[in-house]
Amino acid sequence: MATNLKGGCLCGAVTYETQAEPQIVGHCHCVDCRKSSGTGHGTHVGLPEDALAVHGEIKFYDHPADSGNIVSRGFCGNCGSAILSRNSAMTGMAFLRASSLENPDAVTPQMIVYASRAPSWDKMDPDLPSFAEMPDAGPAAVMADH
Ligand SMILES: [Zn+2]
Ligand SMILES: [Zn+2]
Repeated sequence: MATNLKGGCLCGAVTYETQAEPQIVGHCHCVDCRKSSGTGHGTHVGLPEDALAVHGEIKFYDHPADSGNIVSRGFCGNCGSAILSRNSAMTGMAFLRASSLENPDAVTPQMIVYASRAPSWDKMDPDLPSFAEMPDAGPAAVMADH
């Protein structure tokens, strides 16, 4: 079934839509996701970037992850809402912030990474596979198992 995900920032300067099926949906409790999120984690929706139509200008902030990979975090330069990120180890993929979706229930998180960094008050679904840090084989390998 083709999905039709739409989203954008708070002020409306940036919007996006895609027909692509999300390939990875997961919560990340790493410090970088927490600091850019407004709460204890970021929730990411990974899909092929070429299937994503973006309107408006996204500003990017590049910062190395634990792995040394560069994560480019995209946000609206006007209102500051997180929109999507890219990872230098996963070229061609865009990771939408679930917070920017018009209908956040359109996606279903499948996993939790960097669970060891989660604040004690940020409880996650105990039924999801959870990893203390990033699984060695990467998130895509985890998804292939489920
Ligand atoms: Zn905005
Ligand atoms: Zn993270």
